Amino acid sequence: MCNKTEKILNFYKGIDRGNYGPDARCKPFWHRENFNHFLRGEDFLVKPVTVEYWPSLLCNSRCPLCPYRRNGARTEADLAEYGTSDLKRFFPDTSKTRQIASECKKMGVLSVLITGGGEPFFNPDIDKIARMFVENGISIGIYSNGTVAAREQSIRAVSDLNPRFVRLSVNVGSSMEHRREYNVPSGWDILCQNSRFWAQVLPENIPLSFSWVFTGDEPPDTYKGAGKFLLDLHHDTNRNVSGHFRPKYIYYNRDGSVYYPASVNFDSIVKNVNEFVRPMIQNEPGIDVQINTYAINISRIEPRPQASFATGWATSLTHCGDGYITSELNGSTWPNTCWGRIGCGVSFEDLWFGKERYRLWRLYSQEARLPVYHKLTGLSNVLKALRELCPEPFSVEETDDFWNKFNSEGFKRPPNWDFI
Ligand code: SF4
Repeated sequence: MCNKTEKILNFYKGIDRGNYGPDARCKPFWHRENFNHFLRGEDFLVKPVTVEYWPSLLCNSRCPLCPYRRNGARTEADLAEYGTSDLKRFFPDTSKTRQIASECKKMGVLSVLITGGGEPFFNPDIDKIARMFVENGISIGIYSNGTVAAREQSIRAVSDLNPRFVRLSVNVGSSMEHRREYNVPSGWDILCQNSRFWAQVLPENIPLSFSWVFTGDEPPDTYKGAGKFLLDLHHDTNRNVSGHFRPKYIYYNRDGSVYYPASVNFDSIVKNVNEFVRPMIQNEPGIDVQINTYAINISRIEPRPQASFATGWATSLTHCGDGYITSELNGSTWPNTCWGRIGCGVSFEDLWFGKERYRLWRLYSQEARLPVYHKLTGLSNVLKALRELCPEPFSVEETDDFWNKFNSEGFKRPPNWDFI
C-alpha cells in the first residue's frame, strides 16, 4: 500500500476521534468520481452531489435573521401583495422545474433538498415539484417551517413520494415565543396540527425531525417547551420523532457583509438540552434528541470569515434556476455569488464547468469569504485536513491503489450518504 493511501485510510479510520462534523466526515469517500478528482488535485471537476432548491421565494414569516432577507434575495418577494397574480413570479413554473430536474439528473445529482428561500409549502404545487425530482431518480429531503395552513393534501402527496427525511423548524418553546419569532397568525397552532399530520401520514421508516436553532440566550422554559413539544407529539401520534438542537449563527450584517462577531459561545445550548430536555424524554425510546456539537465547538475558534474547499460538492438553485456558490448566498443580490442560470438553452453542465463558476470556485477556495460556520464547513474542514496530509496530487496508479485498499477494508456507507 502506498504511503498516501495509508495516510488517507488511517484518517478515515480515526475520523470519529477527530473534531469533524458528524454529517460530513464519512461522506466524500462514497462519491468515487468526486473523490478521485479531489485526490488528483482536480477539485474544480467535482460535481454537486446535492442541490438545494427553492419551490417558493415567498414566505409567510419575516424572521429577522433570515439569511435570504439579509442577502437581498427576498426584498421584492416580501413586498409582494398577497392575493394578486404578481405572486406567481416567486414560484417556479412547471416547465422550469421539469427542466431543472432533468438537468440535475444529467449532471448526476443524487439528492435535492427542498427548502427556502421562502417556505416550500407556500407553493400550492409543492407536491408536483417534488415529484419531478423523484421521477428523475433523485432523492428528496424536505425542510419546512410547518406553518402554512390547509396543506394536508400537499403533505400527504409529498409523504407518498417517500422523501428521505422531513424536518420542520420550531426554534421556540411556546405559542407566545412563536408569535414573537415568526409573526405568523396562529402559527404555533398550525405547526402543531401539521406536525401531527406529518406524523400520521409519513411512513415510520422515514425520519421526522424538528429543529431548534438557538442563540444560546434562551431561558430554561424554551428548552422545557421544546421537550414538551416532542413529548406531546410522540404521545398523541405514537410515532418516533427526533429533535435537533444547533447554534444560530448570524451569517450576514444588514448590509449583507459577512457578520464578524467579537466572540460567540453556544455552550449553554449543550448544558440546557442536557439539563432540561433530556430528563423529560429519558424514558421515551421513541424520542431521539441530538445536539450539533460540531457547530457549537467550531464557534470557539476565532470567528473569522473562512475559505471553502468544498463549494463544488453541493450547490443551490433558486426558483428561477439561478445557481449560487453556497446555500447561505442563494438568491443573493451581491456580486460574486451566482454562477449562472440553467435554461435559456444553457445546460447545468456547461455552466458548471464554465468560466464564471471556475472564477467563483477559485475565489471562494482561496479567499476567506464565508462565515465561520456554513453548510459546507464540516466537509470543507475534512477535505482541508486530507489535503494537508497529502499535499501532492495522487497519480492514476496511486488512485487505483487507494480504491483497491478502500474496497477490501469493508467500510460501511453512512446513512444519507447521498445528501451532502
Ligand atoms: S421561515 Fe425560514 S425562509 Fe421564512 S423568514 Fe424565517 S428563516 Fe426565512
